[in-house]
Amino acid sequence: MTLSVSNLSFSYGTKDALKGVSFALAPGFCALLGPNGAGKSTLFALLSRLFTTPDGRIEIAGHDLNAAPRDALAALGVVFQQPTLDLDLTVAQNLRYFAALHGLSGSDATQRIDRALTRLDMAERAGEKVRALNGGHRRRTEIARALLHDPKVLLLDEPTVGLDAASRSAITAHVHDLAGEGMTVLWATHLTDEIRDTDRLLILHQGTLLADGIAGEVTGGAPLQDHFLALTGPRAA
Ligand code: ADP
Repeated sequence: MTLSVSNLSFSYGTKDALKGVSFALAPGFCALLGPNGAGKSTLFALLSRLFTTPDGRIEIAGHDLNAAPRDALAALGVVFQQPTLDLDLTVAQNLRYFAALHGLSGSDATQRIDRALTRLDMAERAGEKVRALNGGHRRRTEIARALLHDPKVLLLDEPTVGLDAASRSAITAHVHDLAGEGMTVLWATHLTDEIRDTDRLLILHQGTLLADGIAGEVTGGAPLQDHFLALTGPRAA
């Protein structure tokens, strides 16, 4: 398993945001589906070690995040919800800056940048300023950047928020391709149309996992949207 989480809990003061969450992922696409407030961002903050908790255990590519944070984080790529590109730099300059932060430079960095941009179909935009790109291309630049250090696990926190339908489906398809090539992807969303029947699906609600399985099987044949609303909507038990 490339990402395993056992019995993870986290509270903001008296507010329990995660209550004993456990799951284990192998390479492939896993959707983390939950309504607003479910605990998705809190889980991502713990996985990327922005927050720490004594309650539970996280292993990334076999490394315990608490005991060996450097090795664990070296295997992790993250695309946060808030964009973090420098608008006045080109696509390639943004990636080169990030590569330098990871100790990558020279021809090694150049090759990694070319490879990552090609994977996201962004190579021909390498010289464009980010400010000139549309939202979908900015997102793809951020995903390419998250691949530069060859992570085994890629986290994306609602990466399609604010994008139009065409950009949304292009990004969803690109990230499914990465998963098909052997990446372990954890994709947080509240949008059921981004999830394929063959994807792994975790449904998170009020800090608890309500479902874990292959999307097409979890729903028992019902449309995912109906199943999701029945579990988490205002009329859920
Ligand atoms: P999601 O990303 O699924 O929308 P979050 O992880 O942001 O969910 O939030 C989980 C719960 O924790 C929610 O009830 C939210 O109100 C609460 N929460 C999030 N951040 C804070 C904070 N800084 N202080 C207090 N409560 C918070």
